[in-house]
Amino acid sequence: MITISATREEEGEPRVALTPETSKKFRSIGARVFFEAGAGERSFFPDALFKEAGAIAVASATEALAEADIVLKVGRPSAQELAALKPGMVLAGMLDPFGPREGLQSLAETGVSAFTMEFMPRITRAQSMDVLSSQSNLAGYKAVVDAAAHFARAFPMMMTAAGTVPAARVFVMGAGVAGLQAVATARRLGAVVSATDVRPAAKEQVQSLGAKFVAVEDEEFKQAEAAGGYAKEMSPEYQKKQAELVASHIAGQDIVITTALIPGRPAPKLVTRAMVETMKPGSIIVDLAAERGGNVEGTKPGEVTQHGGVTIMGFTNMAGRIPGNASSLYARNLYAFIEPMVDRKENNLAIKWDDEIIAGTLIAKDGQIVHPRLKGSSA
Ligand code: NAD
Repeated sequence: MITISATREEEGEPRVALTPETSKKFRSIGARVFFEAGAGERSFFPDALFKEAGAIAVASATEALAEADIVLKVGRPSAQELAALKPGMVLAGMLDPFGPREGLQSLAETGVSAFTMEFMPRITRAQSMDVLSSQSNLAGYKAVVDAAAHFARAFPMMMTAAGTVPAARVFVMGAGVAGLQAVATARRLGAVVSATDVRPAAKEQVQSLGAKFVAVEDEEFKQAEAAGGYAKEMSPEYQKKQAELVASHIAGQDIVITTALIPGRPAPKLVTRAMVETMKPGSIIVDLAAERGGNVEGTKPGEVTQHGGVTIMGFTNMAGRIPGNASSLYARNLYAFIEPMVDRKENNLAIKWDDEIIAGTLIAKDGQIVHPRLKGSSA
């Protein structure tokens, strides 16, 4: 019988890779499911619900991993968990493939077959496994809600007997999955919303959500979309023109949500300190790119800081701030990924190593780092 195990994540990670719902699904395909007691607590999935779904509670991560064929994680395993991993086990998680290399090396040396969900190919068949989309969508929503909660004014326009309350102005930089959800959420709250991106496809998407599109639309912009819908790094000339446009636009904004990323690169710096200083006191910036260095000059990853009356929120795990939904969607992404690996008739693992989804996400196998994007890299 295939054994699937999930453990409690480290302190700063409230999400969990297995939920009662996916425990039940794994049971229905003939697997045995172990979870470390308390693993779902911070996502509000108590042990009792896992047990009801047929999962077996164990007291420690080591015990949970002892007989595992497949290990489900949100982030990288802890040192204690690494010691319990055995060659040939399957490990699936968001393993931060461009993060500290030594950790990745230690993980490879355990001999597990490690799959990192961030590398999921953006093909139709893999949409249900796309963790970047499921988590970014929630992060975009939560960024706006956090900004609204902290803002000393209202989002919608209100006409009252005491006079009119003006609508808040929200500017979203980067209109990918997180950015578009931020646009939609800010619109629902009644703000006047604008957004920018370097990819031409984003223009119509922004406009269809009722927001204004603001961008330098030159020849380079028309070529900016790379494979998989991602942005390319823009030339210094483009960046200069973009900075001029942003500088004039940002001064009139109450809330700025930045989400701009380029795969495998540090986040582009889009908002300078001087631009922040043009914003009115009480304005709020939420820098969703904080984890990758930030889009805003002065963002402190993991911290909320003040600069001349402007609040800069640099939360590094925004999806983790809405852990109930984030865990549910992430666990479903993992189930969709793992389910085809299980041969129900034979009750064993049947991994199609040459499948695009498997090959695209496999980063370590038989003691080696194997992914082409990571080979020879010392980052
Ligand atoms: P991302 O997180 O890598 O980047 C966020 C956004 O930042 C992107 O829209 C990018 O164009 C933008 N950006 C980069 N540099 C910028 C700059 N200098 N100024 C302004 N914006 C900048 O991207 P993402 O959110 O993961 O998705 C990008 C696109 O991929 C989506 O909009 C969608 O079209 C596509 N996508 C496809 C699939 C699929 O096919 N399965 C799934 C999800 C997303």
